[in-house]
Amino acid sequence: MTSFWSDSVHQLEPYVPGEQPKQADFIKLNSNESPFAPSPKVRQALQQALDTDLQKYPDPESEALRATIAQYYQLQADQVFVGNGSDEVLAHSFRALLQHPGRHILFPDITYSFYKVYAALYEVDYQTIPLGPDFSLELSPYLQANPQAVSAVIIANPNAPTGKALRLQQIEQLLQAQPNLLVIVDEAYVDFGAQSAASLVPRYDNLLVVQTLSKSRSLAGLRVGVALGQADLLQALVRVKNSFNSYPLDRLAQVAAQAAFEDETYFQQCRQQIISSRQYLSQALMELGFEVLPSQTNFVFVRHAEIEAAQIAAALRQRGILVRHFKQARIENFLRITIGLQVECQQLIQALQQILSEIDKTAN
Ligand SMILES: *Cc1c(COP(=O)(O)O)cnc(C)c1O
Repeated sequence: MTSFWSDSVHQLEPYVPGEQPKQADFIKLNSNESPFAPSPKVRQALQQALDTDLQKYPDPESEALRATIAQYYQLQADQVFVGNGSDEVLAHSFRALLQHPGRHILFPDITYSFYKVYAALYEVDYQTIPLGPDFSLELSPYLQANPQAVSAVIIANPNAPTGKALRLQQIEQLLQAQPNLLVIVDEAYVDFGAQSAASLVPRYDNLLVVQTLSKSRSLAGLRVGVALGQADLLQALVRVKNSFNSYPLDRLAQVAAQAAFEDETYFQQCRQQIISSRQYLSQALMELGFEVLPSQTNFVFVRHAEIEAAQIAAALRQRGILVRHFKQARIENFLRITIGLQVECQQLIQALQQILSEIDKTAN
């Protein structure tokens, strides 16, 4: 910290991402990445792109990619915005759509922790609404919000780190009940078992759907995020983007992301495998005495009846397995565990069996 720092930077509390270990031999179940490599078509597209024009700037508007995504969701190309990861798309949304002095935004008390960080960075006031006792999102506080005081709502659907989702009909109920509130639906995990609100975009001017290629499309390392919304709404994001970085997606990212959307077969295979491993893992964890929240994502959120989450996370780490623990009220005894390969799920279960039996021995 030096006197050269901008005043407001002293107060910033940055987001802390999951650990990215330097050694490769960890089983990484802490950042909700896909355990599968990207589609072979992504590889081909990257190889071809290396042979052409990397000395030139990329298309600043990512037109070919946006056309592909638009077709995928049966939207128009001007209803698609892309950015350098959905975190950047979210950041631009805060800057472009949520700065309304005198009004605040709403999001759940337990959700993606970046929302608070962006709110602080862009000086957007917020109020959190507690999830229900079973971590379900209850719609009524949002349905009853006063649009004179509240400008927008952000809902991760499915929610992170709980893994629970609202039904599409509930999202639509909110859009209809609150035509003067912007509803941002962060669908980072939607492909693992929830319904996307993308189909509602043509009918609701108060909807912004945010997605990422980092999870279900195995491209966390590429950094591509998407926003879907009506063209007038997205124009605000385009303005902010073009006032910040004209080229958020490089040439490689544009062609690789496009290839990922074009390989539907591979995408379906990967998500089906995650969904079936989730069933296996949930069952095995319950048999070990864990409470497992029903998950519609590529992770499970679990708590052991007797042993503290922090202790389990540390013991797993010693055995080379990383999981995520949040030191946050209401969830300090939960672990968020990414669904890995089937063999990784089995190794996790074996490690937990050992850890639990050792703790049992020391207790007796
Ligand atoms: C992972 C995640 C993101 C960020 O995804 P990137 O595209 O990798 O930046 C956004 N929202 C939620 C809820 C996430 O879990």
